[in-house]
Amino acid sequence: MSDRTLITTRNLSVHYPLRGGLIGPRQVVRAVEGVSIEIARGSFFGLVGESGSGKTTLGRALLRAAPITHGEVIYDDGEVEYDLAAIDKAALKDYRRRAQLIFQDPYAALSPRMTVRDIIAEPLEVMGLTKSRAETDERVREIAARCRLNLEHLRRFPHAFSGGQRQRISIARALVSRPRFVVADEAVAALDVSIQADVLNLLKDIQRDMGLTFLFISHDLSVVAHVCDHVAVMYLGRLVETAPTRQLFARPRHPYTRALLSAIPSLDPDERGRAQKLEGEIPSPTNPPPGCKFQTRCPYAIDRCRKEEPELEHIGAEHNVSCHRWRELSEELAMA
Ligand code: SF4
Repeated sequence: MSDRTLITTRNLSVHYPLRGGLIGPRQVVRAVEGVSIEIARGSFFGLVGESGSGKTTLGRALLRAAPITHGEVIYDDGEVEYDLAAIDKAALKDYRRRAQLIFQDPYAALSPRMTVRDIIAEPLEVMGLTKSRAETDERVREIAARCRLNLEHLRRFPHAFSGGQRQRISIARALVSRPRFVVADEAVAALDVSIQADVLNLLKDIQRDMGLTFLFISHDLSVVAHVCDHVAVMYLGRLVETAPTRQLFARPRHPYTRALLSAIPSLDPDERGRAQKLEGEIPSPTNPPPGCKFQTRCPYAIDRCRKEEPELEHIGAEHNVSCHRWRELSEELAMA
C-alpha cells in the first residue's frame, strides 16, 4: 500500500445468506468475492460491469453500508486510518462524514416536502457538524455555489427542478460534509444524454478543486472513458481486469472487457460490424460455475477454464488481468 492510497481492499468478500426452507443446504449470494484493489488519493476510479456484476455491492462495502464477510478494507486519508471490517461505532460516525454516496435517481433521492436548503443542510444537522443556523446556511450556500445552483432557488422545493438540477442538489447534499471519498453509483444514468456531460464535467471540476477521490460506478464505458483515470472491470463478484483508463481502452486483455468495449456504439460502419455480442446471461451469484466465472459465455473457453479459476495476474504498468489465455489471445488478435 503506497502512502498515496486512500482505499485498499485485500481479499474482500461480501456474502448474503438467503432465507431458505427447513430442509436442504442454505444458499449464499456471493455478491463480491476476493476483491483486492487500491484506490489512489485524488483519483477518479471507475468500476464497470453488467447488472449483477457486484459493482454496487462493492461500492457499498467501501462505504461500510454492506457487510464485510471476509477480508480487509483499509481507509487512510493521511489524517485518520480505519480498518472498516473492525471499525467501532465512534470511528464509523466519523467515517460517515468522510465517505459519501451520490445516488442514481435524482427524483427518488430528494424529499418532496423539504426545501433545497433543508435537503442540503440535513447531513450537517444529523452529524452535528455546525454550531449555529448561520454556520449551516454559510456551508449550504458555499457548496450550492460550487455545484452551480442558483442561490435564489434554495427556498424552493425539488419538484420545481429538472433532472440535471436535481442531481446537482443531490451532489451538493453528498458534499456538504466535506467528504474525502465519494461513491457515485450510476450518477448520470437517469439523465438525458444532453445533461450527462454537464454533470460529469461538474463532478470532475469538484474532484479537482476539492481534492476528492471518486469511485465512479457505471455500466456505460463511454462515460467511464470521459472521466476516469483508472478502471476496474467486474464480473460475477470478481475483478477480471484493472488498468489505467487509456491502457484499458487501447489494449484490453480480458475477453469480457473486449466484449464490453466492442459494444460501445461507433460511428465507423467497419467498427460496428466488428462488435462482439455477449451471448447469454450472467450466472447466478448463488450458484457460480466452476473454474473461470466467465467460461459459460466466453468464446475462447478451453477445458482448463472450466476446471481452474484464473488469478488476477499483474501483466505490466498497473495492468492486471484474470484469464488463463490473455497472452495467446492478445497475439492472435494482434495478427487478425
Ligand atoms: Fe475465457 Fe478461459 Fe480466459 Fe475465462 S480464462 S476469460 S473462459 S479464455
